[in-house]
Amino acid sequence: MMVVLTGGTGGAKFVQGLEQVAPAAQITTVVNTGDDLVWWGLHVSPDLDSITYAMAGLLSRERGWGVDDDTFHCLQVIGRLGAPTWFQLGDRDLAVHLMRTQLLAQGKTLTHATEMITRAFGIGSRVLPMTDAAVETRVMTPSGELSFQEYFVRERWQPEATGVKFLGAETALPAAGVLEAIHTADAVLIAPSNPITSIGPILAVPGIREELRETPAAVVAVSPIVGGAAVSGPAGKLMQSQGLPVSVEGVARAYADFLDVLIIDERDTGRASGVESLGIAVSVTKTIMQSSSDKVALAHAALTAARRVEKLPSRTAMNAER
Ligand code: GDP
Repeated sequence: MMVVLTGGTGGAKFVQGLEQVAPAAQITTVVNTGDDLVWWGLHVSPDLDSITYAMAGLLSRERGWGVDDDTFHCLQVIGRLGAPTWFQLGDRDLAVHLMRTQLLAQGKTLTHATEMITRAFGIGSRVLPMTDAAVETRVMTPSGELSFQEYFVRERWQPEATGVKFLGAETALPAAGVLEAIHTADAVLIAPSNPITSIGPILAVPGIREELRETPAAVVAVSPIVGGAAVSGPAGKLMQSQGLPVSVEGVARAYADFLDVLIIDERDTGRASGVESLGIAVSVTKTIMQSSSDKVALAHAALTAARRVEKLPSRTAMNAER
């Protein structure tokens, strides 16, 4: 069994590869929900949607979000009615948000809504939100605080980020099944997702980070930083805002308390020793996923790295044996 912790973009590509090298029934994906927002009255979970569409083969390659070949008729009309349209939702995509919003209004959990939606799309693996509670990623800028989507989409991540916080995280509980999946997995894979605003919110849910430290599973991450910069998006800027270097060492430092292996790109071979000095093993491969075979090769590399990890029994396990 394996668990993948992920955000939307880098994570979706990684999960697409993993699905081709491992049976769906063995994969549990734990997804960031800190980017969730209420938009046009609907509960939108951008990362859950990207993962769902990626697994269902529906993700738009061109845009990297939403449904392939979607239309935007509703968006045009709603704009005419005076609603903001800087965050775009396609017509087919809307069906998912309508259904999720309805299920939540009926008192169902986000976990339940996600299960129902992924099953309807024929997805055989388990997709879990990190929590059923509302956790909201906020980005601090010199001119005030922004929600993640205001920062990322509306402002195109141009404002200087001076800090990040996860509102509601302290009292959130991990979604049912998350801790158990991490504890009983053979491998926990951290996708090449933004360490601050995609993996960061997951780690901020009390209990998850602790379980990653304690699990007997091998914990392997793929670096989203290649050659000293993010492959896409604001990961570099946000890492800087947290005092982390924009490098594979910076990624290693973000995960140092629980990580066994960091997979780094060939371009970063010269930086391996900085990661190893933190007590984290390094595996070097090509990590840019452009083609389907790139994704498969990276997934293989992650699973191979996980298999090579020989873990000492965790402190909990040792205490239990006494
Ligand atoms: P978000 O929720 O849409 O921000 O998605 P993620 O956090 O999952 O993905 C964004 C991160 O993925 C960025 O930090 C990128 O640097 C990283 N990324 C995107 N594509 C690739 C890739 O092909 N290889 C690697 N190594 N990282 C990638």
